[in-house]
Amino acid sequence: MSERKVALITGATRGIGKEVAIELAKNGFDISANYRSKGPEMDALKEELEGYGAKVVFVQGDVSNFEDTEKMVKETIETLGKIDVLVNNAGITKDGLIMRMKKEDFESVININLVGTFNVTRNVIPYMIKQKSGRIINVSSVVGVTGNAGQTNYSASKAGIIGFTKSLAKEVASRNILVNAIAPGFIATSMTEVLSDSVKEGINAQIPLKRMGTANEVARVVKFLSSDDSSYITGQVINIDGGMVM
Ligand code: NAP
Repeated sequence: MSERKVALITGATRGIGKEVAIELAKNGFDISANYRSKGPEMDALKEELEGYGAKVVFVQGDVSNFEDTEKMVKETIETLGKIDVLVNNAGITKDGLIMRMKKEDFESVININLVGTFNVTRNVIPYMIKQKSGRIINVSSVVGVTGNAGQTNYSASKAGIIGFTKSLAKEVASRNILVNAIAPGFIATSMTEVLSDSVKEGINAQIPLKRMGTANEVARVVKFLSSDDSSYITGQVINIDGGMVM
């Protein structure tokens, strides 16, 4: 049997991150699952991932804190030996119109979504360069491309992730490290659960496929970008949005 690969996924205990962990575990990866706050679902997730034959380690840390990310990467290497794939998934929203948006709400979204992506990547890259291979998949959003009223902080962070992805892809291509971003549209997770039914209906009406996506539909694209099937793709932003943005 071929050696298992190792994936580090941030924000892996629920939503899209959790589905990514499951999909990659099913496909031959050992999993380092980052979490910020311990939730009751973690024991069941560990059992599920191990059921697919994966070695699993949970690494605690706030991605906006550089020392935490240094620690979580070190723990992953110590327990699982390497990192083949990094999925920068952890993210938050703090929506509001600019007139009412507090400086702290702007900063915390940038610090977690964008600076967090830098922090984890900065700590993983030396290992990938040394092993002369790696995949980095950054979770952006369609609003990082289109903008969205009430989300200046969030869309700035997600647009920043796209620029980060393209620059890094150019920087490390010669080291056999492929860097891509995904841009989900509206995906049914706790992030979108807070929207009212009428808002959800309005959104669905604008989506050619007329529904929200599932976290698993996003995870399967991450699986593709983590696999040998995507060996000639780097610096791209792949929309997963039911046709919402074309
Ligand atoms: P979610 O259900 O709210 O999950 C977010 C995850 O990120 C949680 O596990 C959370 O952990 C973690 N997280 C938040 N802040 C963190 C921090 N500072 N350090 C470490 N972990 C942190 O959201 P989701 O919908 O799965 O979103 C996942 C990613 O997809 C995000 O980057 C989001 O922006 C992006 N996205 C989502 C949608 C959508 O429609 N759902 C669309 C486009 C893009 P805690 O529970 O400990 O806070």
